[in-house]
Amino acid sequence: MADYDIVIIGGGPGGYVAAIRAAQLGLKTAVVEKEQMGGICLNWGCIPTKALLRTSEINHLLHSLDAYGFKAEKVSFDFKKIIERSRAVANQLANGVRHLMKKNKVTVIEGTAQIKGRQGVEIELLIDGKMSLKTPNVILATGARARQFPGLEADRKLVWTYKEAMIPEKMPNSLLVIGSGAIGVEFASFYRLIGADVTIVEVQDRILPVEDKEISTFAQKSFEKQGMKIHTSSTVKALKKNKNSVTATLEIQGKSQEIMIDRVILAVGIEGNTENLGLEKTKVKVEKGHIVTNEWCATDEPGVYAIGDVAAGPWLAHKASHEGVLCVEKIKGLKTVHPMKKTNIPGCTYSYPQIASVGLTEEAAKATGKYDLKVGRFPYIGNGKAIAMGEPEGLVKTIFDGKTGELLGAHMIGAEVTELIQGFCLAKTLEATEQEIIETIFPHPTLSEMMHESTLDAFGRVIHF
Ligand SMILES: Cc1cc2nc3c(=O)[nH]c(=O)nc-3n(C[C@H](O)[C@H](O)[C@H](O)COP(=O)(O)OP(=O)(O)OC[C@H]3O[C@@H](n4cnc5c(N)ncnc54)[C@H](O)[C@@H]3O)c2cc1C
Repeated sequence: MADYDIVIIGGGPGGYVAAIRAAQLGLKTAVVEKEQMGGICLNWGCIPTKALLRTSEINHLLHSLDAYGFKAEKVSFDFKKIIERSRAVANQLANGVRHLMKKNKVTVIEGTAQIKGRQGVEIELLIDGKMSLKTPNVILATGARARQFPGLEADRKLVWTYKEAMIPEKMPNSLLVIGSGAIGVEFASFYRLIGADVTIVEVQDRILPVEDKEISTFAQKSFEKQGMKIHTSSTVKALKKNKNSVTATLEIQGKSQEIMIDRVILAVGIEGNTENLGLEKTKVKVEKGHIVTNEWCATDEPGVYAIGDVAAGPWLAHKASHEGVLCVEKIKGLKTVHPMKKTNIPGCTYSYPQIASVGLTEEAAKATGKYDLKVGRFPYIGNGKAIAMGEPEGLVKTIFDGKTGELLGAHMIGAEVTELIQGFCLAKTLEATEQEIIETIFPHPTLSEMMHESTLDAFGRVIHF
């Protein structure tokens, strides 16, 4: 007799969403969590960083008041309160998840779990002792941690991972950010907009390397205009830790240079939490630090599944949650469940300006050699709402296949693009062609009109530019 139909290890956006869906489908479900429900996303990732970024955006606005006709003198901030607000927001949401577990009658067990034998999970309880559970289905949703870099390891005092970068006691005056993916760029943007000197070093030839090249270039120009120093095709060779500062040796496009900074943020990616899960005695495969799964999140071990950051990328909260739902629906045997289309997963960076994209970049679309590419662009400067908002910098770029009208990709930079991108996600799910997007009536005046105009531009019909 099984104790539970499903046991989920890890209560992040992968695990807790899977648990709710399982409970909705009538499956007796338990989640084992060793730290806080909500995982990295709610406690140390998506949510607290967005609270910080909101504050730095307000700071930026307060310093632009003149342009809107206001006069304010001596605008200042209390850094401790900014951090406290971010923690309060994270806690509010993590509490909300605990409430959702109760509401859906999901058992939450506080402890560290691992697979033990066929159909068994063993749990080291947070308070007192061990327990074993029998279940035919285990979902591994144990997430990931910051990747360390040999020779540049985070000591968590002078060299931070994202965790320390989120809760410093004092605002650093100068920062070096190593790596320019979404996490690195968000911290760089937050600290720059509240007044720190920020340098980014990126080994690849552009920042935000997964984004469309044109968007990366646009972002770099914007950040540099705000005073950020950005070195691409460059590396950090050494970090010498002083009493309260770090001397970094950089190799900037072949030339060596030393800089002194207060703190360093290491943002060079993540590695899956695959250790101590009892995988050695199973057929579960781990490749490059992440668990290998099929399109239904099943591993090679019958009855063992993996979702979210512990499995293959992209390592995003909405991908983790979507996998949680589809994995549970497949276990239940629902006929309506579809495998995930990875090209339909949007990616967002909540810097200032924001960046958002879905689907193929122009380069990737070209590289397939399959399409008759139609590329449209519409700049924020041509949009009434953007100008009225005082946000005239940005671009909406769309990529279509001229033969079929398929929307291959959309890439955006500028105010609120992280909200706008959802329109293109829906279009991709519905397999809308350019014709349907063109026939759609967009409200005026809105930023969303640029999505329409960019599509029109791809087919030589742009109106306002
Ligand atoms: C600074 C930062 C900003 C981010 N911003 C965004 C963003 O804006 N948008 C976005 O989509 N993504 C963002 N991410 C990524 C996002 O946080 C992750 O993709 C998401 O949290 C993955 O969810 P998950 O459920 O797979 O794992 P996690 O959220 O990592 O949760 C895993 C949970 O498993 C628990 N656990 C691990 N091992 C065990 C065990 N053996 N037993 C019991 N429990 C265990 C952990 O304690 C943890 O709570 C960000 C990440 C960081 C670090």
